Amino acid sequence: MWYTFGMKKVCFVTQGCRLNQSETASLEQSFRGEGYHLVKEYHDADIAVVNTCTVTENGDKDTKRLVKQLVGANQAIRIALIGCQSQVHKDALLRLKNVQWVIGNAEKMNTHHIIAQTEDLADPVIKTKKIERNSFTIERSSVDSHHTRANIKIQDGCDFYCSFCVIPFARGPARSRVYEDIIRECIDLGNAGHQEIVITGINVGTYEYEGKTLLDVVTGISAIDTIKRIRISSIEPTTISKELIMMMNSNSKLCRYLHIPIQSGSNMMLKAMARKYSISEFRQFIDWVYETVPDICIGTDVIVGFPGETKAYFDETVANLMTMPIHYMHVFSYSDRKFARSTRRDGRVSPEDIAKRSKVLRALSNQKKQTFYNRFQGKQVAVLFESKKKGLWSGLTDNYIRVFYQSDDDLKNKFVSILYMG
Ligand code: SF4
Repeated sequence: MWYTFGMKKVCFVTQGCRLNQSETASLEQSFRGEGYHLVKEYHDADIAVVNTCTVTENGDKDTKRLVKQLVGANQAIRIALIGCQSQVHKDALLRLKNVQWVIGNAEKMNTHHIIAQTEDLADPVIKTKKIERNSFTIERSSVDSHHTRANIKIQDGCDFYCSFCVIPFARGPARSRVYEDIIRECIDLGNAGHQEIVITGINVGTYEYEGKTLLDVVTGISAIDTIKRIRISSIEPTTISKELIMMMNSNSKLCRYLHIPIQSGSNMMLKAMARKYSISEFRQFIDWVYETVPDICIGTDVIVGFPGETKAYFDETVANLMTMPIHYMHVFSYSDRKFARSTRRDGRVSPEDIAKRSKVLRALSNQKKQTFYNRFQGKQVAVLFESKKKGLWSGLTDNYIRVFYQSDDDLKNKFVSILYMG
């Protein structure tokens, strides 16, 4: 690899969600445009840009650990901590070694300009202004050289204020990306070879730009020839239109896939979490989805150990999840988050009980996933392959079945129809 003399070398680390992945991919292109050289290894870099996450306590701990690692491997490295933690925990971050920039979510997508303009300063640079409710554009496309699928950011922020969640504070109010800018980026992503696009945001179902909704975004992206698959990432239950679900039958590009966070299977807990639905409403909706879209995969998120979650409420959650058409779960342990109202609640669940309950739900998730996968044994499925590990190609069907397949051919980023054998 040749470097132009004097060119600064930058490495990136992404923590947390799909939205962060999409933003990092765009930032990588922006740094290239600014004349920086991108490197993979942090011991080789002059600057490390870390896109942080603060959704759970573990996210905060991971960043501290990572900064230690970076400095341990490269004492001269200068670190930019950007994103969610920077927005809400700037003082704590500034105490970490070698941290030169703390940039919150309002200015995160300008990180390349900020660093270029302040590289020579000795004092740390802090940019954590209030996030305004403005529609937005993104300078560079999130072409992702590391992954087959590309994440496209269409929305940011949230107005729902669930009682456990720091995101409305860290990401600011709900706002939507300019529609034409989304389409422009998807054309770029398609031209760069991405065939599958994952529509991403904090609360994507609330997308609204000059009368256009998520349904219009999907329709607009579908019209791009080079894009063959569109997947919608996590979406809040009360924001999904029936038209969008029915489109999964009429539009062959839209994946038969829904990740819809339930968070708890107990009405008492849902109320305490300030979620916007009851269990019966949730059940009614996903039963309808399941009947409407044959072979759809439905996943969910569950929080374990929310303050006040008794054994009886947890058992109710298990019973409901068992009997709903849900095919896998992401299980999260509750942790207090700055600004979240749930920090003031009584009824703390012990770490031991949280661990035990999480284990029960993870076992249930594995079982449900296997049952779902088994239904497709001996059937023909279309797979978009991503990478090869230990001699096997790995890829996904549109309805989120992970397929492993032996072949000597180069299947990376190729659609192949195969007989699914489990
Ligand atoms: S919908 Fe609730 S959980 Fe999701 S980001 Fe908004 S406040 Fe957080």
